[in-house]
Amino acid sequence: MEKVVIIGGGYAGIYALRELVKNRDIKITLIDKHTYHNLQPEVYDLIANKSNMADVTIDLTTLCMGMNHDYLEFKNLKVRNIDTEKKRIFTEEKETVDFDYLIMAAGTRTFFPSSIKGLNNAEDIKKLHRAIFFKQSFENQLFEKISDEVKKCNDTHIVVVGAGLSGVEIAAEMAYNSNKFFKRGNFACDNLQISLISSSPTILPGLPKEVINMSHKRLKDLGINVITGSKMESCDKDYIYLTNGTKISQSFIVFAGGIESSTITSVLDVNKNGRGQIIVNEYMQTDKYENILAIGDMAEVRDRKGELLPPNVTVARHTGTNAGININRMIKGKKLLACDPKLDGILIALGGKYAVGNLYGLVNVKGLIAYYIKKYVFDSYRAPLLKLIKKGYARLNKLK
Ligand SMILES: Cc1cc2nc3c(=O)[nH]c(=O)nc-3n(C[C@H](O)[C@H](O)[C@H](O)COP(=O)(O)OP(=O)(O)OC[C@H]3O[C@@H](n4cnc5c(N)ncnc54)[C@H](O)[C@@H]3O)c2cc1C
Repeated sequence: MEKVVIIGGGYAGIYALRELVKNRDIKITLIDKHTYHNLQPEVYDLIANKSNMADVTIDLTTLCMGMNHDYLEFKNLKVRNIDTEKKRIFTEEKETVDFDYLIMAAGTRTFFPSSIKGLNNAEDIKKLHRAIFFKQSFENQLFEKISDEVKKCNDTHIVVVGAGLSGVEIAAEMAYNSNKFFKRGNFACDNLQISLISSSPTILPGLPKEVINMSHKRLKDLGINVITGSKMESCDKDYIYLTNGTKISQSFIVFAGGIESSTITSVLDVNKNGRGQIIVNEYMQTDKYENILAIGDMAEVRDRKGELLPPNVTVARHTGTNAGININRMIKGKKLLACDPKLDGILIALGGKYAVGNLYGLVNVKGLIAYYIKKYVFDSYRAPLLKLIKKGYARLNKLK
């Protein structure tokens, strides 16, 4: 029986898995270092206290149980090395897993440039445990603020470095929530300032101009100090220093300045880009091994015109589904299908029930309607997975 292994139970890995389970005669192993799939784009609701951990995670054990495939197993392991000759995976837990076909879907992590001095204290919200810690730190900042009246209400300044999607969204969510908090409590000490730093001439570089303008206006309306065209050079416990020669006070830094591939790509001798993402062909295969595929954020993905696509859930869906289909086809000796990844649009959450975006490159949307479209898109992803984990949970309890 052919053995297929997926490393990474994120969006891309799960889309691949949903295709693979259609073949009842293969052995499938899903490996993840966490026991859950982290719904990263929904983490803002967690930070804003609109949801809790159960709403932003999908349990991978019950998900696999719910898929009801005789030879599917989930292994909670951290991959450390891959022997492509022996087709064997080595893990931190010392367990090895053999494969005939391998899907690399371990995503990316926040890139902390070593050239920026003092950055090790900055917050990062890509990992769930860091997002939870960040939420607590943000709440602590608010608490310290309202407890500070005797100390003459010193300035509190949160600095978000990086004005791509996640930097912009997190700055907006924090500003919206702190504004609401101070208004609701009528606290005398309400001088909490949020700054957003972009090294590019605008925020959200690469996005349509109208989306940039609508987002910029919303950030300004929320009271955010937007600084463009300047990079963070270093920081100490009180200040952040920018390349334009200015320094700004800081009580708390969130770093969203870039991403790099998960470290496990470094053990594969395949073609990679400068961020460590694996360069794949139109069938999601690596250049050297046709049985090793890479998908989602971990891969450098281009559309049919050769344009580079930004890492996001839509790309994870296209590439994950394609990899699952193609492995099933390889096993059956069928011709492979080329992936045709396209972006359906872009929707950016900007605090509270407000979003802006562009759909299919045709229509710009903003406000409540954009917020509900974004919510609908993510609810439609989550709903079938919730059904599966419910089924898996019931099956697991029957076995106990
Ligand atoms: C805060 C935030 C907001 C975002 N908002 C949006 C949005 O609004 N819209 C959008 O389209 N995209 C958004 N994104 C991007 C989106 O979340 C990613 O593009 C998507 O998660 C990529 O899916 P993936 O499966 O490739 O990687 P991931 O979802 O990161 O999954 C990778 C999996 O691999 C596992 N893994 C990693 N290393 C190992 C290892 N060594 N061994 C075993 N397992 C390992 C991880 O535990 C993880 O489960 C956002 C991202 C963040 C951080």
